[in-house]
Amino acid sequence: MSPSDRFNEPSCADDHEPGVRRVADARNDILKQLRPVQGIEKLALRAALNRFLAEPILSPANVPGHDNSAMDGYAVRGADLDGDERPRLRLVGSLYAGQRYDGECAAGECIRIMTGAPMPDGADTVIMQEQARVIDDASIEIVGRHRHGENVRLAGEDIALGDAVLEAGRRLTPADIGILASLGIAEVQVYRRPRVAFFSTGDELRSLGETLNTGDVYDSNRYSLYGMLRQLDVELLDMGVIRDDPEQLREAFTSAAAMADVIVTSGGVSVGEADFTREILEALGNMHFWKILMKPGRPLSFGNIGDTAFFGLPGNPVAVMVTFLQFVQPALRYLASGREETPLTLPARCLHTIRKRPGRHEFPRGIYRSDADGQLVVTTTGQQGSGILTSMSRGNCFILLPEDNAGVEEGDWVRIQPFVCY
Ligand code: AMP
Ligand code: MG
Repeated sequence: MSPSDRFNEPSCADDHEPGVRRVADARNDILKQLRPVQGIEKLALRAALNRFLAEPILSPANVPGHDNSAMDGYAVRGADLDGDERPRLRLVGSLYAGQRYDGECAAGECIRIMTGAPMPDGADTVIMQEQARVIDDASIEIVGRHRHGENVRLAGEDIALGDAVLEAGRRLTPADIGILASLGIAEVQVYRRPRVAFFSTGDELRSLGETLNTGDVYDSNRYSLYGMLRQLDVELLDMGVIRDDPEQLREAFTSAAAMADVIVTSGGVSVGEADFTREILEALGNMHFWKILMKPGRPLSFGNIGDTAFFGLPGNPVAVMVTFLQFVQPALRYLASGREETPLTLPARCLHTIRKRPGRHEFPRGIYRSDADGQLVVTTTGQQGSGILTSMSRGNCFILLPEDNAGVEEGDWVRIQPFVCY
């Protein structure tokens, strides 16, 4: 099959019902419509941690800057060790980290040297102190066999002058800001963080501190969304709870679009409520209303209001987290970095039978761990309903059961996707 055949092949879902989407197709459709954030700011190193680099970093220096000793020992000329069994060398000086040796290490001589001290001229090898025997104040004897150049860290062996050290688009890790510091770089250009406005919709939702009447529920989605968004390190605008009221919703969508790069809402996309949110959203922007072939999380709306991307997630507490992690997180990551990344998945042996029919991509929550042999195994968290939020709390991964999967037998290999907000 040629690549173009594959592209032209209609997804089986499209044939039957418009708006029906496979998970991977929806994710790709979303990424295609997004434009990464363009704004750039200059930040000091500490503030740049976890931010996305907007410039490639070329090394302005060699690291290490000079050939230096990797051990406490004696700097010698390697050639002096080639002949005798136990060569004796004259001790002519000593050298600590941060010092420079004025003279030269001549033939037959050695210099006491500490880890990190620059190599004296003439010396090319360091003998560990454990392999030298002190004879008197002015001479030592070398034991064992030695290689020219051993225990010497060469200038530029970690990073050479002009090397491309960090590429644009990468997220700065603790090691990265350490490297930047080692190069003497105090500030870097990073992309500004995407601004995300989020709110919950529903007449039944109560905020914490309010009293629940029959049929009311506390708004938990705004908290789990807050948690996931916080870990992604985006700028947050928490807009609270919006009633299922066309005027209030229109106003919320409009003001969110004016302030944010992305709007994330939960609730109001299931049958019954969908119609009027749909009407409002279609009037304000371009929208897709998808039935995703997934469980949990079937309805999803995605589109834009002006330059602002919009995600309307389902209301059920598990569905909101699953759809966030499958669709919104990769989208935010792309907006922030300009890079498309494949989500991390791992093979694990499943210790349960899981019943499933082909058709939908299911995301049962699992707990993965290493067994006594170091092999990755996964168990399910038990009840999997889309309202069972404890499954997300007990679990540490999704067990990925794609559309075609027809169930799992105990001991089968499955792929898991750890819950990582990165
Ligand atoms: P909806 O998609 O609005 O029909 O909501 C589906 C289910 O999720 C209903 O049982 C809602 O009460 C519940 N739900 C919706 N939004 C939230 C929320 N923010 N927090 C907790 N439960 C919610
Ligand atoms: Mg609702």
